[in-house]
Amino acid sequence: MSDVTPDPLYFGRRWDAPAFDDARRGPTPVGTDCGLCPAPIAEGDDGTWQVFLTADPMTAEVRPVHLECWLRQGLDSPAHVRGECSCAGLPEPEDDRTWREQGREVIRLLGHGDWLDDDHGSPRHPGSR
Ligand SMILES: [Zn+2]
Ligand SMILES: [Zn+2]
Repeated sequence: MSDVTPDPLYFGRRWDAPAFDDARRGPTPVGTDCGLCPAPIAEGDDGTWQVFLTADPMTAEVRPVHLECWLRQGLDSPAHVRGECSCAGLPEPEDDRTWREQGREVIRLLGHGDWLDDDHGSPRHPGSR
């Protein structure tokens, strides 16, 4: 499957995470569907590329995902990040928002709300102020 492994590429702003250490900034795939939520990638969005597997037939394809969706996938639900989910022995709260909306809350919970409010200027590390 090495032929589908992407060069580490991201678009928009660089997020301060190990996955981005060797990544190069590529063009924003405007109009392409996000692999994790219903919203297509728009001008000014931030995100990365990810390999998706399908079972039948077994294929692998590389799709863009919003940074918010990627964080929601990697860090789990806002309730989980708050320690208020089934992992903590609590009932998993219902959350019918898209992953992107949940991802925004996760970013705020991480203390990076300013990253969301930023006006998509120059790439910068969310932690460096
Ligand atoms: Zn998305
Ligand atoms: Zn959990």
